[in-house]
Amino acid sequence: MSEQLKTQFTQRIVELQHRVDSIHQDFASGRDADWAEQAGERENDEVLNALESEARVEIQKLSNAITRINNGDYGICQTCGENIAKQRLQVQPAAIKCIVCAD
Ligand SMILES: [Zn+2]
Repeated sequence: MSEQLKTQFTQRIVELQHRVDSIHQDFASGRDADWAEQAGERENDEVLNALESEARVEIQKLSNAITRINNGDYGICQTCGENIAKQRLQVQPAAIKCIVCAD
């Protein structure tokens, strides 16, 4: 079970890493192209930046989750020590708090 989760998380991290890489490629190619007027280009950069930081945050969460699996405290609420509900983990696999403490 936990090995399966680790594999799942690792695959997701690889996917996200690819996404971050391709965002960087977009940045690079955007710089060379002269199609974009300044304002549009800046807007585009902001979107890409947001996507990148989103991906990075998720990578961080997932690698923390892998660490917790290794430590044997995955799925345990960091605040109250209760088990986090399975349904919650299905929706948010990297959740560190139970639904009560998360609010
Ligand atoms: Zn809790």
